[in-house]
Amino acid sequence: MKNQITCEDIQKNIPDFINDKLDSRDTLAFINHTRNCKACMEELSVEYLVLVGVKRLDSASAFNLNDELEDLMIRNEYRAIRRRNLTRIVFVFAIGLAILGGYLISGMLY
Ligand SMILES: [Zn+2]
Repeated sequence: MKNQITCEDIQKNIPDFINDKLDSRDTLAFINHTRNCKACMEELSVEYLVLVGVKRLDSASAFNLNDELEDLMIRNEYRAIRRRNLTRIVFVFAIGLAILGGYLISGMLY
């Protein structure tokens, strides 16, 4: 996604969001936008109803789909934040190893 996210970008990503196929950055951008944009939130609700609701027209669980959508958003947001933090930890760890490695090598040379 570009830096300036448009409603069009968001609405294109709706199926991927519902299937949890966006990366953490896009997930957070997506949630951030839909929470502040009525048009995209409506579009998301409709697509969610279509994608998920149709699969269970014959079951009693077709009811609280709006609650489920809210759950899905919170879950995806939480996972995206956790994934992003994990990447950061791995990155810091790798830098630490590199510094330590450099230190050990220079210790052997001098
Ligand atoms: Zn929008």
